[in-house]
Amino acid sequence: MADGSPVQAAPDGAQWSDWTWQMRHRIRTAEDLAAYVAPTPDETQAVSALADRFRFVITPYYASLMDPADPDCPVRRQVVPRMAELADPAGLADPLDEVAHSPVKNVVRVYADRIAFCVNNECALYCRYCLRKRMVGDEDWAMKKRELSEAVDWIRRTPEIRDVLLTGGDPLVFSDDRLEWLIAEIRAIPHVEIIRLGTRLPVTLPFRVTDALCDMLARYHPIWVNTHFNHPKELTPEAAEACDRLTRAGIPVGNQSVLLRGINDDAETMKALCEGLVRMRVRPYYVYQAQMLEGTAHFRVPVERGIEIFRALRGRTSGYAIPQYVLDTPYGKVPLDYPYLRGREGDDIVVESYDGRVWREPNPPD
Ligand code: SF4
Repeated sequence: MADGSPVQAAPDGAQWSDWTWQMRHRIRTAEDLAAYVAPTPDETQAVSALADRFRFVITPYYASLMDPADPDCPVRRQVVPRMAELADPAGLADPLDEVAHSPVKNVVRVYADRIAFCVNNECALYCRYCLRKRMVGDEDWAMKKRELSEAVDWIRRTPEIRDVLLTGGDPLVFSDDRLEWLIAEIRAIPHVEIIRLGTRLPVTLPFRVTDALCDMLARYHPIWVNTHFNHPKELTPEAAEACDRLTRAGIPVGNQSVLLRGINDDAETMKALCEGLVRMRVRPYYVYQAQMLEGTAHFRVPVERGIEIFRALRGRTSGYAIPQYVLDTPYGKVPLDYPYLRGREGDDIVVESYDGRVWREPNPPD
C-alpha cells in the first residue's frame, strides 16, 4: 500500500482513478484507517476524541501514500489525528481574524484589490493543521447557490476587486457544472482581471484534475492555480500528471506549503520538495509559517529555524526553487527573509552573499 498501489478495496484500476469513487470511499473511522496503516493507540483514541472538533476524512489515494508502519510518516502526520491536538492552550480559532474581514458570507478581504472567496466548506480530506479548521467540514459554512450569488453580487458592486481567489474548503470538490457556473458569473464581471483557484486536490486526489475540467477552466482565462504540496512523498506520478494537465491547459501552477515540524522543517526535505515541484513545472510560491491555530502547537516551528532553512537553499538551488517564506497576519503577509542587506555605509551599499561573504558597491544617492 505504501508504494501507492491500489488497495484491496479497488482492484479495478479504472475505479481507483475515478475521483468520484475516491470521494465515496473515503476513510472516516479508525476501522477504515486500519485497512491502510497499523494505527497507534494514540491515533485510534484521537480519531474518536476529536470527532466533534475537526472532521477526520482521508481519500484512499492519499492514504495509500502513508507508511503503514511509521506513525511519523510525513503524509500520515498531516491527516491522522493525534491526542496532541487537545494540548494547545494558546491556539486560536481564527488567528487571522478572517471573520472581521468578511463583508459577505465566506468572502475574506484583507487587501483592497483582492479577496479570498471560500466557495464551500468541503475538502477531499482534512489537514490537521488547516488554517480554516473553524469552518471546513462544518455545515454552517456551506454555501448555497443563493449565497454564492450574493457573494458574486458583492464582487460586482465592488469595482476595486481585480483578483478573486476561489478557495474553501476546496473549489475542485464542486462538480464541473457548478464550478463552471460560478467561474462564468465571476468572469462576466468586467473589473475582475484574474481568477485563482486554491486547491489541494492535485495532491490529495489528483484524478479530480480531468481533461474535461482543464478544458472547462481554459475557457475562462486568465485562470491561475495554487496547490499545496508539503513533502516530496506527495510528488507522485499521478500528482505530476494532474499538474501537467493544468499547465498544458495554459494554467500557471504555483505551490503553497506550510512549514510543519517533523514534516518539512529541514533544508534537505524542503530542497527536495521545491526542486521536485520545479521538475513538475510547479513554481514554489509561498511557504507559510504555521499559524497560532487551535490544536496545532505540535506542528509549529520557530521562525528563526524557518529563516535558516530558506537561507540554506539560497545559492544552492535555482532561484525558481526558492519560495517566499511568509507569516500571514490580519494585516497581510509579511516576508520572513534573512537580512542579506546590511545597509548603507557612506556612499556604498553593503550586502551579504549566500555564503556569508560581504560585498559593497557604490549606491547612488536618493
Ligand atoms: S485541503 Fe486546504 S482547506 Fe482543506 S483541510 Fe487541507 S489545508 Fe484546509
